[in-house]
Amino acid sequence: MEGTRAVVLRDHQIALIGGKIAAIAPHIDAGLARELIDAHGMLAMPGLVNCHAHIPMGMFRGIVEDVPVEEWFNNYIWPMETNLTAEDVYWGSLLGLAEMIENGVTTVADHYFMPDQIARAVEQSGMRAVLAEALFGGVGAEQRLAASLEFAAQYHGSAAGRISVVLGPHSPYTCEPEFLSAVARAAVQHKLGVHIHLSETLDQVESSLAQYGKTPIGMAQASGLFEVPCIAAHVAHPAHGDIAALSQHGVGVACCPKTSMKLGIGVAPVHVLRSSGVAVGIGSDGAASNNSYDILEATRLIALLEKHTLADARTLPVAEALGLATREGARVLGLADRIGTLAVGKQADLLLLRLDGAHHTPQHDIAANLLYSARAADIDTVLVDGHVLMRDRRLLTIDKAQVLGEVNARSERLTQRRTGKRVQSYPAA
Ligand SMILES: [Zn+2]
Repeated sequence: MEGTRAVVLRDHQIALIGGKIAAIAPHIDAGLARELIDAHGMLAMPGLVNCHAHIPMGMFRGIVEDVPVEEWFNNYIWPMETNLTAEDVYWGSLLGLAEMIENGVTTVADHYFMPDQIARAVEQSGMRAVLAEALFGGVGAEQRLAASLEFAAQYHGSAAGRISVVLGPHSPYTCEPEFLSAVARAAVQHKLGVHIHLSETLDQVESSLAQYGKTPIGMAQASGLFEVPCIAAHVAHPAHGDIAALSQHGVGVACCPKTSMKLGIGVAPVHVLRSSGVAVGIGSDGAASNNSYDILEATRLIALLEKHTLADARTLPVAEALGLATREGARVLGLADRIGTLAVGKQADLLLLRLDGAHHTPQHDIAANLLYSARAADIDTVLVDGHVLMRDRRLLTIDKAQVLGEVNARSERLTQRRTGKRVQSYPAA
């Protein structure tokens, strides 16, 4: 990915040394290589970056469909999440990570509970992750922030540098302004970034304006959260001043088209954000709302939606759309110096994708085939830091049969709903 172009080099070899890309050239002396991977007929491309996920939520896949967002949270997801044990989160994380690797995701920014269990699964899986513990305001918020800081102290930079940690205030509608400010102060003091949901729905923007005279993005800015590197999830309804604030402070946006379209709550205006200089990446959100962790699918959806919404086929051309899922996603997560492109010196996070399907033929434009024709099942091999996590579509770091068995065995208990018990309440419109 070079600027706005997707450059395809034919008949090249890639040398990986010490987890990094050491050379990309037509002929490389492989005499000293410890391992050779024959990628004949395949496309090597940067690993996909998932900028916003709730990894373990695959455990709730398909349990709540066709209901509005308030009901989705209050009647289903937040009551069910009271059932989660540490082991549930661990197995749910392995389920999500297995699915992501199969879908070519090599880096994920997560936002969930019991992050030590998620870190345990990430470390085992070999993936790269930016982990945030979801924090709500209210009673006990200070202690929860303290625990999050302890988690950050222990895990930031762990798993040979593959795990980084940021603070995860859930949203301005679940965290009062004083708590958002406390999180911002802690992030500055401990040199940590933040990851937060902002302006997912029009109702959230309107009730924030009514309550505080500021949009959710305005609240985040006023509390100081934009003084540190910030990942803003959704941003479906930015007001005019919001976009300038995001741009000035270098806030990255995780656009989650499938969840937002499915819940009917609106999708980030990618063209408007990008033309104002805001970095935009692609997020899956949780698999309870998205139903999958397929970033190739999400990228295709946003390309189609932008063209449809603006009634302009020139909007978000092929290479730019693919850039959202790779280079721009890396920018949103503050990792652009390490991942997001295939270039000498970058970490060896890459995919080998089969091009021998009927849907890839002919190959006039491999990038266009990738965006509009490819399937996740075309991904043959996945590497992170030069380690092979999947080969011939077989997962090497996760025992998939065991994970599926564990998740299936837990699913009936996890979907019980006890009246009145919820992890949080979604405010009524
Ligand atoms: Zn989310």
